[in-house]
Amino acid sequence: MPRPTHLTIDLRVLVANALTIRGLAKNRNIMAAVKANAYGHGMMPCAEALEPLVDAFAVAVCEEATQLRSAGISKPILVLEGPFDKADIIELAHLECWMAVHSFEQITKLQTTIAEGAIVPPRVIWLKVDTGMHRLGVSPQDVPSITQILRSLGINDVRLMTHLAYAESPESPLTQRQLQRWNRVTKGFTGQVSLMNSAGLTNLPDGQNAQASEDWLRPGYMLYGGAIDSVALEGPVPTGVADSNHTVSYTTRAVMELNSRVMAIRSIDAGETVGYGGRWQASRRSRIATIPVGYGDGYPRTADSGTPVIVNGMRCPLVGRVSMDMITVDVTDCSDVNVDSSVQLWGQQLAVDEVARHAGTIGYELLTRLPERLPRHILVSDI
Ligand SMILES: *Cc1c(COP(=O)(O)O)cnc(C)c1O
Repeated sequence: MPRPTHLTIDLRVLVANALTIRGLAKNRNIMAAVKANAYGHGMMPCAEALEPLVDAFAVAVCEEATQLRSAGISKPILVLEGPFDKADIIELAHLECWMAVHSFEQITKLQTTIAEGAIVPPRVIWLKVDTGMHRLGVSPQDVPSITQILRSLGINDVRLMTHLAYAESPESPLTQRQLQRWNRVTKGFTGQVSLMNSAGLTNLPDGQNAQASEDWLRPGYMLYGGAIDSVALEGPVPTGVADSNHTVSYTTRAVMELNSRVMAIRSIDAGETVGYGGRWQASRRSRIATIPVGYGDGYPRTADSGTPVIVNGMRCPLVGRVSMDMITVDVTDCSDVNVDSSVQLWGQQLAVDEVARHAGTIGYELLTRLPERLPRHILVSDI
């Protein structure tokens, strides 16, 4: 019998989440981020499920765009990091993907490739503007001259995008500074523009973007049910409820569940320790359940004692160190826990974001670093 630990990817939930985001987007276009294997959920099945519901896809690198096209995805695909070299430029032109360009060096390579006749000028280019993230992008003051250069290459549809560094906090000086620069650079710009990731979409007041009607939203994490704002982290928030600051609170549901079953149970006396290094000591006689999941399965080794684990529908604390293949949970206060009782590590009963907080990281990291050895059960939409 295979070990009971497995991932469930529910594409019906992904579809429902996309519809929720459609509702929030109003008349704006949606570019679904499916980079990093769709945040660990499997890029192909997710892109296929999403294609009828979104206007475009966003990936990080050229190889991901190639994979999507080979699988038959025909909607526009934006490559967020743009081309690394001439081969990438030719590949993206061939695949009819949208490139982002973020630097003069990239633009020069593009210029040369067009001048050599290796490609015809792409119809669309997304110009990445650095409004304060300071990772990628050209300075706001260079936008008019670069737009001119791109148009002189025969690229008429130049679009602008920027990325917010701290969209979870709309009031922060950093976000305010970025929005000011963005509004300045997009004012009078006639092309299409794109500002918001998941956190921006859920936390920034509606209509923050000057050109809302032409705006492209770029949600990633929330499509998969990740919770970005602190409110959502504390518990479920009804869909589409507007709070007093006119920010839209939302809930999308977890597409992924990491589930297992109890493999062993024992009782230990007060004073005994559990796991490597004897890091946790029982203060009373305790019942300890062992679960066959560990850091070799992507469960974070840094999860501290007290990290919640759902056993038989109840929240029980992780105790002791996470091993490669197993964890131990204190089920003293949980009734009816036996070998084979159901276990959830994260999913609809327990947000991955909450586990991540106990492990000193974010849900994004836990989702994107799941290893091959975890079996995946994909639940498909029957419509
Ligand atoms: C990954 C990414 C997104 C999506 O971000 P989420 O936080 O997952 O919504 C949007 N824009 C850019 C530039 C990205 O790199």
